[in-house]
Amino acid sequence: MLLSGKEPSVKMKADTRILSEKFEARFSRKPTLAVVYVGNNPASAVYVRNKKKACEETSIGHLDVDLDENISEEELICRIKELEKDEKVDGILLQLPLPKHLDETRVLKYISAEKDVDGFSETNLGRLLTEEKGLVACTPKGIMYMLDYYNIETEGKNVVVVGRSRIVGKPVSALLSQKKRNATVTLCHTKTENLEFYLKNADIVICAVGRPRVIKENMVKKDAVVIDVGTNRVGDSTKKSGYALVGDFCYSQEDGGSLKVTPVPGGVGLMTVASLMENTVIAACRRMGIETEEL
Ligand code: NAP
Repeated sequence: MLLSGKEPSVKMKADTRILSEKFEARFSRKPTLAVVYVGNNPASAVYVRNKKKACEETSIGHLDVDLDENISEEELICRIKELEKDEKVDGILLQLPLPKHLDETRVLKYISAEKDVDGFSETNLGRLLTEEKGLVACTPKGIMYMLDYYNIETEGKNVVVVGRSRIVGKPVSALLSQKKRNATVTLCHTKTENLEFYLKNADIVICAVGRPRVIKENMVKKDAVVIDVGTNRVGDSTKKSGYALVGDFCYSQEDGGSLKVTPVPGGVGLMTVASLMENTVIAACRRMGIETEEL
């Protein structure tokens, strides 16, 4: 069975739109996302376009901040500080990766936890660990939504997360370990010995590796749930663009057979964008001193 991201992302965006419209009716302005895009990385351009489109679908305002590829780190930080001060801006999205001469970690520190709608900041990541209210990183949040949408039980299940990045692997592991989810989580990476041993014992596998089709069907249980986060470009002469997007997971039957698997494209990526929209409305509400439930 394929666990498409389409239906859950449409639902999440529809619910977000309702919240967004209520916010506008109450505060006479739209929740607003500043979309900061530096340079001209073609993959980033696609993501930025999709995010702006999602803003329109959810009645969220977007402030487009397109910056020259050669901008200095000081200038970029200066722009972020301005957006931080801007009362009309509720969330700041800094599209990554940045051009090589800019230090992402350093620049990201200038986005406050309140406007950090990507959920990358130390404060928001820390709140995940302490199980406090914060802004949850978008891809992990989208994965949790998908698991709920498809009624996939996590309590008592063995979950293997492959990949330990700050934006996917680590926060996903933390969320699944929370009392709300009660999964038994194993976090694997390049230094894991005998990855297959862990995969074979996993009820749910989260692939966040970034290597095309590196995890094979015969490495997991026959009826495993596989959430494939990987978004890898591989050359494909049959496509106009010259490339195809493939996941980290490789399966033979188009519909996943006895597995439950998220497709790439059309899976987790859609949820990431929808989560960004929901986070923007949550951030907007909190800046006005309320929670979305109080709208
Ligand atoms: P990342 O920062 O490059 O981290 C990759 C992780 O995978 C690292 O922890 C690495 O281990 C581990 N790894 C790499 N090769 C491995 C192997 N052969 N066996 C076991 N572990 C291995 O990647 P990321 O930012 O988390 O992104 C991962 C993928 O998800 C990428 O394809 C990215 O484009 C995609 N992504 C998609 C979305 C979406 O919305 N769909 C969002 C974010 C990311 P070490 O730590 O030991 O190096």
